[in-house]
Amino acid sequence: MALLQISEPGQSLDPHQRRVAVGIDLGTTHSLVAAVRHGVAECLPDAQGRVILPSVVRYTDPAQGGAGRQIGYEALAAQVDDPANTVSSVKRLMGRSRAQVVDVDKLPYRVLDDGGMAVIDTVAGRKTPMEVSAEILATLRFRAEDSFDDELYGAVITVPAYFDDAQRQATKDAAQLAGINVLRLINEPTAAAIAYGLDNGSEGIYAVYDLGGGTFDISILRLTQGVFEVLATGGDSALGGDDYDQALAGWVLRQQGVDAVPDASARAVLQREARRIKETLSGADSAVFQVSLGGQTIEQTVTAADFETCTAELTARTLSAVRKVLRDAGVRRDEVQGVVLVGGSTRMPVVRRAVGEFFGRDPLVNLNPDEVVALGAAIQANALAGNSRAGDLLLLDVIPLSLGIETMGGLVERIVPRNSTIPTARAQDFTTYQDGQTALALHVVQGERDLVADCRSLARFTLRGIPPMAAGAARIRVTFTVDADGLLSVSAREQGSGVEARIEVKPAYGLSDEQIAAMLQDSFATAQQDMQARALVEARVDADRMLVATRSALAADGDLLSAAEREAIDALMQGLAQVAKEGTASEVEAATEALAKGTEAFAARRMNRGIQHALAGRKIEEI
Ligand code: ADP
Ligand code: MG
Repeated sequence: MALLQISEPGQSLDPHQRRVAVGIDLGTTHSLVAAVRHGVAECLPDAQGRVILPSVVRYTDPAQGGAGRQIGYEALAAQVDDPANTVSSVKRLMGRSRAQVVDVDKLPYRVLDDGGMAVIDTVAGRKTPMEVSAEILATLRFRAEDSFDDELYGAVITVPAYFDDAQRQATKDAAQLAGINVLRLINEPTAAAIAYGLDNGSEGIYAVYDLGGGTFDISILRLTQGVFEVLATGGDSALGGDDYDQALAGWVLRQQGVDAVPDASARAVLQREARRIKETLSGADSAVFQVSLGGQTIEQTVTAADFETCTAELTARTLSAVRKVLRDAGVRRDEVQGVVLVGGSTRMPVVRRAVGEFFGRDPLVNLNPDEVVALGAAIQANALAGNSRAGDLLLLDVIPLSLGIETMGGLVERIVPRNSTIPTARAQDFTTYQDGQTALALHVVQGERDLVADCRSLARFTLRGIPPMAAGAARIRVTFTVDADGLLSVSAREQGSGVEARIEVKPAYGLSDEQIAAMLQDSFATAQQDMQARALVEARVDADRMLVATRSALAADGDLLSAAEREAIDALMQGLAQVAKEGTASEVEAATEALAKGTEAFAARRMNRGIQHALAGRKIEEI
């Protein structure tokens, strides 16, 4: 007799109550959809049994009739004949202006700028990157709904760790266009860690090395009792397998003595053959590169060693990003207990060897590197949909650049430091600068430098309705909240009266990795200079505050002073005003101190007069 299976209460839902939740790896080159079925994550195949969907959409002339677009393999096949209307690697355009797209002129299709947003000019009209991505997402959604014969409840979609707010938002918008409920966006390397972490159950520090078609991501993670914490992330969103193809194609052309730059469709032919050779060399020692271009045949034998030589610089670039992220995480390479390889390009033996040598251990490869991200996302989606007990699985990601607020004198007060794990909420108290100040202008910035001018402005908003008080008496709590998708909101609240203002930060477009890298580089190179600049600005702000306060005290109670006393204070004020303009930080501090000392007696007399606010009150606080 068969035994009835009984699950523990709350552990599993009746099969009919299960919600269809999927993980989607929306890749630059390939996209996949996966789901947990019978407790196991698996990629869902199309009607032909293929799990991979090329991230390619071809638009056709509406005047010709037909569906108006082709998606996936069909579109890929049309790319050579119709490069201008066949959109590939659209992920590089997501949430970007045209100027921000790396190598935009090398793309086979035409990219225009529409009010700060890159758009693609096709025979069927202008298409936004979100629309193109939505076609891919909708295809995967229908695939999932066909597999389960049920409506999709929601999806976890993966994004590169380096995606900023604008790029994440663009991804969410694309999902919305495709009619998909986004349960969460998670970083691709984190998804890979979920796939491996839950399968292996091993604790410790891991590195996830993800080399795809167009992007490279490296993350350092800590796995403890089923909790993944991302210690740091880095990489290069313009480095991937495509660059290996290009390097190989260039090498072949040089061997052949060809230096004329071919047109877009010839380039596509060369690139495709280079890719075939590259992939062949992952399992063979040599291969023959063979294309015919305009009646001319190019034939070139390529050995694995040739390939390694002409792509060595690319592999080295990935390793220098690894070195940097280890530094950021404060982790030595021998502390890394396992290295997870993700992305089709990690099939290249040269990459496996280089990564293995770097860490001094063989990387983990037991899951399919193409599928691992989608599988991890599926496990997470299943949990978020309430289908499994792992619903409380905690996911921690990090933000790539520090977030802060502008303070007096154009200085940045960092509130959320770079590489903080998200979701996060951090608060700091600020106060007013002037007596009776009823509004506070808040300026949210991103970057590692001490001066606002050197950072990137994200948003400005104003807190109004602060009750008039003496300068420094108001307590304004500014809270930064970064949600699980990496989106930032900032609120400011005056603690006494409860007046509040808030803003969601959705920058019109994001920063490129080059910009992030440059901003970090700048901050390292100029840390010393920044410290001096900061000290000077702070000293000037203090001096100014002292002058403002003294002036208002003199206006209110100047009659308490003899003519000689008044003259002495005026001289000190004049001296300070002068030094604040020209002096060094320590000179400004000394002059401020002198004015403070010179007004002590005056302050005491004002206290006696029963005035409890302004100068005296603050001086007690300050001392
Ligand atoms: P993405 O995440 O950017 O969409 P994938 O992880 O799917 O990319 O990786 C696609 C890249 O992997 C392509 O550049 C492809 O040429 C490369 N790739 C796939 N299989 C192999 C292989 N056997 N050897 C080398 N490279 C491969
Ligand atoms: Mg990928």
